Amino acid sequence: MTNYTHEPMPIATARVEGTKELFPVRRIFCVGRNYAAHAREMGRDPDREPPFFFTKFAETVVESGAEIAYPPNTSNYHYEMELVVALSGPLFNATVDDVPGAIYGYCTGLDMTRRDRQLEARETGRPWDLGKNFAESAVLGSIVPMSETIFCEGAITLEVDGQTRQKSDISALIWSVDEILVELSKSYQLAAGDLIFTGTPEGVGAVTPGQKLRGEITGLPPVELRIAGT
Ligand code: MN
Repeated sequence: MTNYTHEPMPIATARVEGTKELFPVRRIFCVGRNYAAHAREMGRDPDREPPFFFTKFAETVVESGAEIAYPPNTSNYHYEMELVVALSGPLFNATVDDVPGAIYGYCTGLDMTRRDRQLEARETGRPWDLGKNFAESAVLGSIVPMSETIFCEGAITLEVDGQTRQKSDISALIWSVDEILVELSKSYQLAAGDLIFTGTPEGVGAVTPGQKLRGEITGLPPVELRIAGT
């Protein structure tokens, strides 16, 4: 006997700015260490080695404005403010010229991270899943449709309880949006519904119960999150 009902799981979605439409989320890919100053604060030298990727389940999506619980299995729970790309079409073995036609739009996002578990994994050569891929770890602002656009500049900031913690510019990305997608499309048949977190600038840090996060990127709606109090 099993309680498994074989009913379909609800599909994770993101809001689309200015409409009642929802963007169905298929897969979530994330780029590691894509701002030089963040690579340095994590104890690594920035370089132009090809970007590397990790993933989160689609079910980790949380809508901006939510209050979420402090997650289990961490005492060093970090924010990472990021530009997120949403895809509308297929990309495989793409060139930079192929990329604009597959862009649906962009949103603000928080790549919430169990830093203690991520660093243990990094130092022991193990996968990053416990550090990165856990419930409510992919927080999304509303997507602004911007087909054919490669988002390449604009201030990116994060505040915790009104105090600025991260402040950079999308132009500081080591690997640009189109370069990221060219590289990722060498390994995956990318498709509509895929989201790509493009990496976080310097200033990452821990949050505690009761704190409020607000991230902004010029031209996009903000992403907000509250960590439930004790
Ligand atoms: Mn990240």
